[in-house]
Amino acid sequence: MPRKTAARPNGASGARPGAKPHARAVQGGPSGAHPAKQPVRVRVARPAAVGQSAPRHRTSASGLRAALIAFGFLLVFGLGAGYAFFWRDVQVTVNGASTSVRIGTPLDSFLEDNGYFGVAPGHLLSIGGNVITEDGGTRATVTFDGRSVAADAWTSEHLGDGSSIEVGPGADVEEGHTEETVEVAPQIEKQAGGAIQFVSQWGRAGKKTVWTGEVSGEQVDREVLEPAQNMVVSSLNVHPEGEGKYIALTFDDGPSGYTQRILDILAEKGAKATFFNLGSQVVGRPALAKAVLDGGNELASHTNQHMNLPDCDRDTLRSEISTSFDAIEAAVGSRPQMIRAPYGAFTDVEWARAGDLISCNVLWNIDTLDWKRPGAQAIVDGVLSGAYNGAIALMHDGGGNRDQDIEALPAIIDGLRAQGYELVTVSELMATDSRFPREVVEGAVKMPEGAVLPAA
Ligand SMILES: [Zn+2]
Repeated sequence: MPRKTAARPNGASGARPGAKPHARAVQGGPSGAHPAKQPVRVRVARPAAVGQSAPRHRTSASGLRAALIAFGFLLVFGLGAGYAFFWRDVQVTVNGASTSVRIGTPLDSFLEDNGYFGVAPGHLLSIGGNVITEDGGTRATVTFDGRSVAADAWTSEHLGDGSSIEVGPGADVEEGHTEETVEVAPQIEKQAGGAIQFVSQWGRAGKKTVWTGEVSGEQVDREVLEPAQNMVVSSLNVHPEGEGKYIALTFDDGPSGYTQRILDILAEKGAKATFFNLGSQVVGRPALAKAVLDGGNELASHTNQHMNLPDCDRDTLRSEISTSFDAIEAAVGSRPQMIRAPYGAFTDVEWARAGDLISCNVLWNIDTLDWKRPGAQAIVDGVLSGAYNGAIALMHDGGGNRDQDIEALPAIIDGLRAQGYELVTVSELMATDSRFPREVVEGAVKMPEGAVLPAA
């Protein structure tokens, strides 16, 4: 409902404080009309009371004075009438209802004086779409004589006779923002299900624009300028191509007091295996690590201290890997890149944090469960019954009593050969399957220039 200037009915306008000049001007009109009659009376009376020459002077002077007075009163009347005309009240329509207002009232004061006709202001919104303040938007939405008028133009619009105004709720306004271009880290896509995992595509950073709200501090992604390229970790079981049948025996947790006896059996049988040594063990037995390689076997890392890598922070993880490589390199003169993570635990996070350090992470297809010491025959049976072309079998040459592994090994080798298998190292096994990149097979992986690891 209208209030203040527009709230009163039209007929009461003379009582308003704002209309005082109006009221005075109207009263001045009639009073100005009386003196206009007086010169007529004076002009008739004076010539009869005086002489010829003097009366003529007097007549002429009093006529001038009367004319001036008449002019003065006419001027006052004219000004008063004009004043009244230019400051008169007019009828306007607000949201369909008629109301009275002094002509020429600026739109902004009309709205303010009438409490914006009860409409709610818009909200100030964050760039993320959250309400920062309930009333921080525009005060109202206004259509003036059919035109939409923005708030900053309300002062320059003035009300006239018959003006039509529609006042609606204010519009929401979004806070200001700053924009910056930032790098987008690649994500990781890790396949599952295979015994050997390696990076088949390196990650590359992208670029995007980000808005930061000046009031809220919220950050919102706006535009991807250059998409990031994800890091892809492939996970494959070996499927040897061609006619041969191949299998890889692997021994973890050494070198230990059992390692030389295992090496002797392998040498005696002319077979090869792969040893995943702990760096901390290699430091104390460098000659055994060297003996592994000298026997034509493959030497790889089982990390330094056999920690569960997903429990490690980034620095510890990287150290667990690189320290073991250092130890092996110091012992044998060459640096491996292949690892077997303790417990096989190497998740997306570990790949994102340390994928640049390794060529591959090797799991297994046949678990002998030798660490449970199930008896030598059970270990033999486990390998022989689980064997298939391209399989990797898990055994141990350290971390506990390995008498059963030593007892089982000759029968395992003989049994596999009887099934037609050639016992090869893990790298030799990978080389039978062209899906494995050459640098992975050769342990010569290098993260390319410009590639980056995923954020983790
Ligand atoms: Zn282990």
